[in-house]
Amino acid sequence: MKCELVFVGTELLLGDILNTNAQYLSKRLAALGFDVLFQCVVGDNPERLKAVLEEGLERSDIIITTGGLGPTKDDLTKEVCAEVFSLPLEMHEESLCRIHDYFKEKNISMPKSNEKQALMPKGSVVFKNTNGTAPGCAMEKDGKRIIILPGPPREMCEMFENCVLPYLSRFSDHVIISHSVRTFGIGESMMAERAGDLLDMQNPTVAPYAKSGEALLRVTAKATTAQEAEKLIAPVVEEIKNRLGSFVYGVDCSGPEENIVALLKEKGLTLATAESCTGGLIGKRITDISGASSVFGCGIISYSNEVKKSVLGVKEELLEKYGAVSEAVAASMALGAVKCSGADLAVSVTGIAGPNSDGTDKPVGLVYIAVTDGSSFRIKKLLTGHSEKSCREYNRTVSASTALNEVRLFILESENNRKDINAFINSF
Ligand code: ATP
Repeated sequence: MKCELVFVGTELLLGDILNTNAQYLSKRLAALGFDVLFQCVVGDNPERLKAVLEEGLERSDIIITTGGLGPTKDDLTKEVCAEVFSLPLEMHEESLCRIHDYFKEKNISMPKSNEKQALMPKGSVVFKNTNGTAPGCAMEKDGKRIIILPGPPREMCEMFENCVLPYLSRFSDHVIISHSVRTFGIGESMMAERAGDLLDMQNPTVAPYAKSGEALLRVTAKATTAQEAEKLIAPVVEEIKNRLGSFVYGVDCSGPEENIVALLKEKGLTLATAESCTGGLIGKRITDISGASSVFGCGIISYSNEVKKSVLGVKEELLEKYGAVSEAVAASMALGAVKCSGADLAVSVTGIAGPNSDGTDKPVGLVYIAVTDGSSFRIKKLLTGHSEKSCREYNRTVSASTALNEVRLFILESENNRKDINAFINSF
């Protein structure tokens, strides 16, 4: 299959941004056996884009574009591609609902102009965008195909891996299989450093990704049968697990919550939560997993100091002396949650989600997380480093993910390493 890449955006032509999509797509397609014959950058100009597409279709089977799928008038990639194939645009209801939901979740009213993003070329295969609003798609005419993807790398990469690869595998006499090794607590660069030479492999390929404090390595193999591909992948996944150790929490699972529910079930344990700055997010994420009721029975949102004292038994002196965002209070909250819920384990979170500070000199993004079984405990001080205006969602998400990871580490760590929680609280 001959492929050609077209990157749309005047800011690329002007050198305002680096064309990282070019590197990413070329590398991925080449590793998967597609011949990338040409790359082209074109500004937001419909006539020039049309000329580039028509020329490309003369010599290649597939053209992949990125950029120009936004809601504004100068975002015209989809319209021009549909015109080249003489396909009318029609409303794709599922995408429209998705875009509506995207804004609803962010609590912003959807601008009318965004509806345009759900207009798709007739008969196209629509690719959903899990990180933004613009769907992508693949359209076909006379054996030639154009695949259009959004410009922002975060949106483009996820759509390419989750939607385009399975789509492309139909046109290949090979199968392409991927597995994701998910890690927590190790940054993307440290993870890549430890993976080292594995990142240079050709088949399978190993590619790093990062999202909201999490990092993963995706291992992708190409072979003539699925069995063969799995055989190529298995030793590499094992090697990654060896190199990354306890940072790895799962392979192909949807997130730390799925891992925790499975781990609690496997160990026959129940969990309770005492949440302050995460406001119930940990409980929400655990109960997102079907079957969570067998391991999770109680979540306390102890947002105020009053509730920390009356429900969880946190001592007034600790709150006064160390403040709500402190190790002493985090440990007391966890101990209180275990006692009042009767669960085997409890996790607590107390922190400053921002963007406003708590009136002390503690930084926004400072979070304490404690896990206890009522006698021993584990405590974590987290500094997210995010204090900008829009940091609240990030800080809460990362705090909840870290708390789930702390529960995992508590369960897996040797009992000999554990310290007494009552002695710890009494030491303050
Ligand atoms: P949006 O809905 O955000 O407008 P879009 O699909 O229309 O998305 P563009 O408007 O072309 O995409 O680009 C949006 C942003 O994505 C750019 O400002 C740039 O930061 C990034 N981007 C676009 N193309 C590339 C590229 N080829 N390489 C790296 N980054 C890119």
